[in-house]
Amino acid sequence: MSKVIAIANQKGGVGKTTTTANLGIGLVNEGKKVLLIDCDAQGSLTESLGFDNPDNFETTLSTLMQKSIQDLPISKDEGILHHAEGVDLIPANIELSGMETALVNTMSRERVLKNCVDSVKDNYDYVLIDCTPSLGMLTINSLVAADEVIIPVQAHYLPAKGLEQLLTTIGRVKKHINPDLKIGGILLTMVDSRTNLAQSVSRQIRLNFSKNITVYKTEIPLSTKAAETSAVGKSVYTYDKRGKAAEAYRNLTKEVLEGGKQRNKHRSEIIR
Ligand code: ATP
Ligand code: MG
Repeated sequence: MSKVIAIANQKGGVGKTTTTANLGIGLVNEGKKVLLIDCDAQGSLTESLGFDNPDNFETTLSTLMQKSIQDLPISKDEGILHHAEGVDLIPANIELSGMETALVNTMSRERVLKNCVDSVKDNYDYVLIDCTPSLGMLTINSLVAADEVIIPVQAHYLPAKGLEQLLTTIGRVKKHINPDLKIGGILLTMVDSRTNLAQSVSRQIRLNFSKNITVYKTEIPLSTKAAETSAVGKSVYTYDKRGKAAEAYRNLTKEVLEGGKQRNKHRSEIIR
C-alpha cells in the first residue's frame, strides 16, 4: 500500500521543495518506488530536478486536475516524468495558478487532487506532495490527498504563529474531510548550529511542540551545497555525497521509514 506525504508550510522558503526532492530520492535509495508531485505553480520542484522550462510542458498537474474536474479518466502513467536518480515526478507550471479560482465552482473541490493521486499511486510505495506556500485550496487539496504531513520549519526565528495556523488548518481537514490524516512531524531546516539562535529555536520548538507532535530528531543543516543542488538538477546524495546535508537527509529518510521509533526516544530525552 502506498503512503502519501504532503510537505507543507504556508511560510515561503522554509525548505519544502528541497526536502521533497531529497527525502524522495532518499527513499528511492532505500529501495522504494517514489512519485513526487509538484503542487506549486512556481514549478520549483520540477526545475530543481533539472526539468527546465516547465511552462512549455504539455501535461502537468494542472492538466490532470482539470481532467478530474471534468470527470475524465486519468491513466496510471499520465504526465509522469522520470528522473535519472530513479524518482518519478508529476510536474507543475504556471497553469496551476489558475487552479485556486477554478476550484471555487467545482463539486467536491477539496478532493480533486486526491482523485488524481488515487489514479496513479498504486505503482508507488511513497507519493510526496510539494505544497505551495499558502493555506489556499491547493494546500487543502494536498492535505486531503495525504496520509501524513511533514512540516519543515526554518530554524531562524520562532515560527509559533504560522505553525499554529497550519496546525489549525490540518485539524480542520482532519475533522471534516480526512480523519486519518496524521502529522508525520516537524522538521527543522537550515539549522546553523554555530549560532545560539538556531540552537535556541530548535530547543524551543522541541519544548513547545514535542509533547503532542513529533519533532524529527534529524535537523537539516544550513548548507551551501544543499542550496546549490536545485541549480544542477541533482539530489544532495550525488552532488555532495559525503556532505552534512546528504547525511542529514539520509537520516531523515530512515526516520520516515521507521515511522517514529527514534523520535519518541529523543522526545523523552529532551523533556527529561
Ligand atoms: P517556497 O515556499 O518558495 O516553495 P520552499 O519552502 O520550497 O520555498 P526551498 O525552495 O526548498 O523552500 O528552499 C528555499 C531556498 O533555500 C532555496 O534557495 C534553497 O536552495 C535554499 N535551501 C534549502 N535548503 C537549504 C539548506 N539546508 N541550506 C541552505 N540553503 C537551503
Ligand atoms: Mg517550494
